[in-house]
Amino acid sequence: MYIFQKAADLRSQLKTILRGRRSNAIGFIPTMGALHEGHLALIRAAQADGCYTVCSIFVNPTQFNDPSDLSKYPRTPEKDAELLAEVGCDVIFMPEVEEIYPPGVNQDFEIDFEGLDLVMEGFFRPGHFKGVAQVVKRLLDLVDPGKLYMGQKDFQQVAIVRHLIRVTGVPVQLVVVPTVREADGLAMSSRNVRLSPEGRIKGPIIYQTLLAAKSMATNGTLPAEISREAMAALSDAGFEPEYFEIADAETLQPVQTMQEAPEVVACVAAWLDGVRLIDNMTLIG
Ligand code: AMP
Repeated sequence: MYIFQKAADLRSQLKTILRGRRSNAIGFIPTMGALHEGHLALIRAAQADGCYTVCSIFVNPTQFNDPSDLSKYPRTPEKDAELLAEVGCDVIFMPEVEEIYPPGVNQDFEIDFEGLDLVMEGFFRPGHFKGVAQVVKRLLDLVDPGKLYMGQKDFQQVAIVRHLIRVTGVPVQLVVVPTVREADGLAMSSRNVRLSPEGRIKGPIIYQTLLAAKSMATNGTLPAEISREAMAALSDAGFEPEYFEIADAETLQPVQTMQEAPEVVACVAAWLDGVRLIDNMTLIG
């Protein structure tokens, strides 16, 4: 396994390593580190597709709208490298901030996300998706993969990146990997390590609320009523829910009825113990 900190080293080595192979043989897995089984599922998916796997670990400052969230973000580079070696990842790219955003180089670009960036995470974390798009574009330019692996756990992020790929014309195929959960249903997340023991016990209530929403949807309950009940259930359990949206899975706009879109998804964000957790589940489709 190779580990690179410098973009130039990554690029020249990828050229050598890939000599004789198609450049689209690279499967790229961008992460912010503090790796867990959810991230490893992305590596395994790329390996199962026969890709040469490149995993980046970069806590991207431009996507954090809250400075204390950035400073508290868990960083475990040695353990991450061990896990990636164990799973058989081929290359780790662990750049410093200056490597991704060289001083004096303008990395700004504006994309019209056609409303995908204004709801849910985009509403509660202003500027977040601009930062996500910026870093993903920069990393795709550097790594030039044939396939990009991302988790369904970050449903809206997938929609944003799909849109980014479409409008920029970057020749990469986006592969979405299902959410990996703990045995009790809590979606795996790097932030889970910040939960107190009591918080960790309560965490799966988010998943239970999503399951309840799914069965209500199947039974014909209207989206507004499902959202109201889910928000109340989370508050009663000691969470501070920000949103529980029931939306068209493609446009991410809220639906009034379950028949309004071919696929309907429930997306939730809630605070627990000062930790912001997100999750989602397909309700229909
Ligand atoms: P992060 O390090 O949180 O930026 O996540 C890096 C990638 O891993 C993103 O594509 C996430 O959607 C994905 N990911 C994070 N947690 C999970 C999970 N529990 N299941 C599947 N994918 C995940």
